Amino acid sequence: MAQTPQDLKIAILGAGMGGLTCALALAKEGFKHIDVYENAHDLGFVGAGIQLAPNMARVLDRLGVWKPIEAEAVNITSTSVRVGASDSELAHVPLEYIHDTYGYPHMVGHRSSLAGHLYQGCLQHPDQIRFHFATTASDTTFGPKSSFTATPRDHPEQAYRVEADVLLACDGIKSQSRVAMLDLLGIKAGVKDTHQAAYRIMIHKDQIKDDPELLELMNGNRVTRWIGEKRHIIAYPVSNNTIYNLSTTQPDTHFAAATNATYTTRGDKSVMLGVFGDFCPMVQRMLNYVPEGEVCEWKLRVHEPLPTWVHETVALVGDACHPTLPHLAQGAAQAIEDGGVIGAVLSKLPDTTPASIHKALKVYEKVRKDRAYAIVELAAASGRALHLGEGAAKEERDRQFAALRQGKGPVPDKWADADVQKELYGVDATKIALEQFDELFASV
Ligand SMILES: Cc1cc2nc3c(=O)[nH]c(=O)nc-3n(C[C@H](O)[C@H](O)[C@H](O)COP(=O)(O)OP(=O)(O)OC[C@H]3O[C@@H](n4cnc5c(N)ncnc54)[C@H](O)[C@@H]3O)c2cc1C
Repeated sequence: MAQTPQDLKIAILGAGMGGLTCALALAKEGFKHIDVYENAHDLGFVGAGIQLAPNMARVLDRLGVWKPIEAEAVNITSTSVRVGASDSELAHVPLEYIHDTYGYPHMVGHRSSLAGHLYQGCLQHPDQIRFHFATTASDTTFGPKSSFTATPRDHPEQAYRVEADVLLACDGIKSQSRVAMLDLLGIKAGVKDTHQAAYRIMIHKDQIKDDPELLELMNGNRVTRWIGEKRHIIAYPVSNNTIYNLSTTQPDTHFAAATNATYTTRGDKSVMLGVFGDFCPMVQRMLNYVPEGEVCEWKLRVHEPLPTWVHETVALVGDACHPTLPHLAQGAAQAIEDGGVIGAVLSKLPDTTPASIHKALKVYEKVRKDRAYAIVELAAASGRALHLGEGAAKEERDRQFAALRQGKGPVPDKWADADVQKELYGVDATKIALEQFDELFASV
């Protein structure tokens, strides 16, 4: 048995935002045996923008990786919600107050910057963290020692079993450990279709050097959302204002019939242009900058809420247990909060017994589960409000937008609403875990 908690053998499945944060948080707490198993040959797809909300920045700062991410990101000072068809403004919300109120600005960046600096942070601890890329985890078992099969993708015949004191399943929405856990516990909960899909697009500055309107957006500090029935586009500059990032949401028609596990597909540019065919000419121009053959569409799926995230010495983390729609820009932020809390609760372990490990992981679940699921619900609700078609509900929403232009009332685009921001950014989950650990540990 391990002598101290720091001697425990920790296996992390998946090197996404959740897995990388867990690894770094645990290394910072002095854990010496952290092994990360990642299916992909490298950090995988990171070619898109991402919002770096203050609750995410707070965790990253504690882990010492926020400064380089911040240096490459763009500080957002306002957001504009606009009618997709006419480009007329429904609401303009200043966001500069966020820095003073929550200690961090609201920034947006490139995924490769976020993932890359988290990874670099991990590489600062070579004696503690070992990465096993191109290695697929399967057949997770749950017990005082948990285990799984690690299969090198290039040499499947060399598959081997890994046993660990703590197993953190950070393997995303398709988590095989979640499926195994639910099977074992006889829980019926599955992936839920949202009937929504997303295109993600990046426009480089040299592509638009002769387009003053788009250059103004590129050089600005604004998140813009163009909305229409069942669809919207959110856009912002990233990478020190050298790339303009667009993420769309539209009804899912291409994956709808697929029963397999496909989540991304190469899209057809003319189909994409058709989906936003009634949006204003500027939006049309932006979409047209996407090179033919480079349109990629993502299926947006979520999961039914789980009664538990923890079994024996295994915990689910990030999208494995709380995948969310992107409309609040909180999916990665929540996975990163999970990682911070995992580091906190395992650092507080009173001993190295499987029973204590299980209880510490249950404290993680207590601190995180209700919050994460509330955010998942809120993101779905925000999407519904943004996507309304003609009718009484839309009239009420647009009345709220009109009131907002007079300076009063909530923002229907929840992401930009001050009360929602308080709920998202004003909570320090790691601090709560540390402060309430003893009380919660005694209660689980
Ligand atoms: C269109 C869109 C826009 C978004 N925008 C934002 C945003 O602005 N801000 C924000 O905070 N979030 C955003 N998100 C959400 C965010 O991307 C996810 O919530 C986040 O990446 C989840 O991180 P994760 O580590 O839990 O899972 P993932 O990033 O999915 O990582 C899981 C990892 O596990 C690996 N893996 C899977 N199975 C295995 C296996 N069997 N063995 C080994 N490895 C395995 C995968 O290869 C992957 O690297 C957005 C999502 C979408 C779709």
